[in-house]
Amino acid sequence: MVNFKKARERMVQSQLAARGVHDERVLEAMLKVPRHLFVDEALRDQAYSDHPLPIAEKQTISQPYIVALMTESLKLKGTEKVLEIGTGSGYQSAILAELAGRVFSIERYPELGYRANSILRKLGYKNFIIRVGDGSLGWPDDAPFDGIIVTAGTPQIPQPLIDQLSMGGRLVVPVGDRLAQDLFLIRREAEGIEKTNLGAVRFVNLVGKWGWKE
Ligand code: SAH
Repeated sequence: MVNFKKARERMVQSQLAARGVHDERVLEAMLKVPRHLFVDEALRDQAYSDHPLPIAEKQTISQPYIVALMTESLKLKGTEKVLEIGTGSGYQSAILAELAGRVFSIERYPELGYRANSILRKLGYKNFIIRVGDGSLGWPDDAPFDGIIVTAGTPQIPQPLIDQLSMGGRLVVPVGDRLAQDLFLIRREAEGIEKTNLGAVRFVNLVGKWGWKE
């Protein structure tokens, strides 16, 4: 039987802090959220390993380091309204719920959305809402967002997501081909849009109007 708390401490030290994740709030959140509850029971022993893991519908829960890197780049202070595209297991949503004011998350597979919703509720989170649909269109009803995180790879940055960023808002999104992408940080400033490449990543496909075709 794995000691999950110890496994989390080791993960935060060796995979996150050692690789340059310094935001104390991000490290605290990743120390706290029980990642093993978001994966299949058969995979729990691997929940804190340094790689992604399969979840239902042929999707994946991202590697812990990638979750930390993307979250840190949003520079959350605690009051922000954040949008996540690709709820998947709900793990990233829980991390965001720890760090932001309100979290909106969209998933295209109903089963994943329902499952994530029930785990987050059980863990006591109240500042989140999960919707089933095409997240490449964003969430216009509740826009603008201070942070937007896309956890699936897309051939182009969906324009609706840029349009739904607040002034000073930040968007992290993997852009590239179906098998490999670069992670981009987009900042909306008064002078225009600033774009930074955070490095190579590998995500499952964003499927939707502004993503890949089925
Ligand atoms: N953030 C997730 C990662 C899940 S993998 C986690 O922490 O587990 C990416 C997810 O994006 C998959 O569940 C996939 O079904 C979903 N997805 C792909 N295209 C989508 C779209 N257009 N809208 C909403 N979700 C989408």
